[in-house]
Amino acid sequence: MTSEEMDAEQRQTAGAAGTILSAGERARIAAALAERGARAACPSCHENDWLIGDGYSLVAMRANLQDLDAGGTGLATVSRICRHCGYLSLHVARLLGIEAPGVE
Ligand SMILES: [Zn+2]
Repeated sequence: MTSEEMDAEQRQTAGAAGTILSAGERARIAAALAERGARAACPSCHENDWLIGDGYSLVAMRANLQDLDAGGTGLATVSRICRHCGYLSLHVARLLGIEAPGVE
């Protein structure tokens, strides 16, 4: 798939708000995942057709369930989404070498 085709596909999944990540950012994430061998088929449906999620996500980490909606720190992640069944695969951005100042 070319980067233009990938960009068009991503726009279709982004909804009315449009694409959040640039094609370059998605390509960087895809390259980091490929470099680490994250190419396996979907564990849910066994197809192997993934999209890069259209934004960074923060997975909240709290010591108890009551604090989950209180904001604060968390794990910055990138995601892959199975085009076939929608399975969501999260990967810690920092471990892929994708970091931003002040984000864990
Ligand atoms: Zn799947």
